[in-house]
Amino acid sequence: MYFKKVSRMLCILFISASIFTVHNASASGGFEDISPKHEAYEEINNLVVNKSSFADVAVGRELSGYVEQLSFFKSEKELPVKGVAVLDTSQVIGLVSSTTDGLNIRKSKDSSSKANIVGTINKGGKLSVYAVEGDWLKVSYNDAFAYVYKTYAQFLDADGNALRNIQKQVTTTQSINSYVKPTSSSKVISTVNSKVKLPVYKTVNGYYLTVVNGVPGYIVADSTEDVKVEKPSIPNPTQTPPKVSGDLLGRVTVDNLNIRKEANSTSTVLCKLKKGEYVQVNSINGYWAQIIYNGQEGYVHKSYLKILNLSGNPIKDRIIIIDPGHGGKDPGTVVGTIAEKNIALKVSTLVTQKLEAAGAKVLMTRTGDTYPTREGRVDFTHANYGEIFVSIHVNYAANTSAQGTETFFAKTPGDMHQEDIELATFINNQIVKNVNMNDRKVKKENFIVIANTNIPAILVELGFLSNSEDRAKLTDNQYIELFAESIYKGILEYYSKQ
Ligand SMILES: [Zn+2]
Repeated sequence: MYFKKVSRMLCILFISASIFTVHNASASGGFEDISPKHEAYEEINNLVVNKSSFADVAVGRELSGYVEQLSFFKSEKELPVKGVAVLDTSQVIGLVSSTTDGLNIRKSKDSSSKANIVGTINKGGKLSVYAVEGDWLKVSYNDAFAYVYKTYAQFLDADGNALRNIQKQVTTTQSINSYVKPTSSSKVISTVNSKVKLPVYKTVNGYYLTVVNGVPGYIVADSTEDVKVEKPSIPNPTQTPPKVSGDLLGRVTVDNLNIRKEANSTSTVLCKLKKGEYVQVNSINGYWAQIIYNGQEGYVHKSYLKILNLSGNPIKDRIIIIDPGHGGKDPGTVVGTIAEKNIALKVSTLVTQKLEAAGAKVLMTRTGDTYPTREGRVDFTHANYGEIFVSIHVNYAANTSAQGTETFFAKTPGDMHQEDIELATFINNQIVKNVNMNDRKVKKENFIVIANTNIPAILVELGFLSNSEDRAKLTDNQYIELFAESIYKGILEYYSKQ
């Protein structure tokens, strides 16, 4: 038995289709998530889930009998009452975690009655869900069905993690099932018609993690096709094209960049530039840079040049898009009264002020508590002639020990992802160094806002709201200032490198 292999005692608190939360009963050890990858998973699974739920009297006895044998067992949960119907855990459709302390668990769907409250659950506590019924989730509690109000419960994926950013959208190409786990042998939650648009949160072994009618589930990736995001090459500008001139150099960031005779994308191609070559930039008008290459004059689309100031501040006149994550109806990650959207806006506003003070032209995708769509943020960037894009977010993990800063770049065909990596690395390292954060490094992830912007674009996750140490920094104004200063310095470092 696994229990004999370890020196401490574990007592199972919650059980769902695929994850157990286990409490170290011997001391102040805290909770431990037993995911399918954990060495104890098989044994706990055999002991409990394959037979029935924890609420099963027989299993309960077996467990408690077993733990009684080891004298230091302390029950953290009342053992089930005899004679109550045993719930069939194979019917579980998902796992939720409470987003608030003291969430009422009721035996009926009636929030006006106090008599129907059978218990409460604190923030982070997990419940297995059997059905979604209007505003209510039908859950198991003490060996019986009960209800919690949907607003205060957040669905988790099969590994027990909260769903994070949407990576892309897909359309179903046929009628397909949504499963509890990424395998067609698991329970079917619901059936989705053909031609339905669904968000993708994660890809696991040929399955996409999506959400159907508010419930996360896995669908076969091959039965979908990607929704194509229109990439406006030359958008209709929302404002007068900015004009810049001065002592400028351009470094080519892609291969085979066209030099055109005139400032438009249908004009004659004079010659092509290779990645890494430098051109003299005389002026920039909107998207078109007038350049001189080998003594010849021509025009190049500025999105594919890193514009370098040969004198003065390296970021003077640069057009920088700052994207505070989420906003409005979308709070992002929430812990108690702390919402990601507010932290992102605070840091973004400070970054903007610092960049502007250094002479940059900065545009924020939102300046208040509003919700621009992801596609809207991409369009905003293109319509405003953005030259780099920095999206600011805060992280969350079910495992509260996860902490630190990570920065993402996207890699798409024809993209100058080397530039993305440099920008991401400078920003990430500045934060890690100045704010003394755990370094979770620079990673590739095709989030919509960074995959569809055809300029250097990164998304930084400052730290984890779910981790107490990170949270203390993310809610402290002095640290907020340090985060902003670090992002500013990272951008400055990026433009200082020629
Ligand atoms: Zn976010």
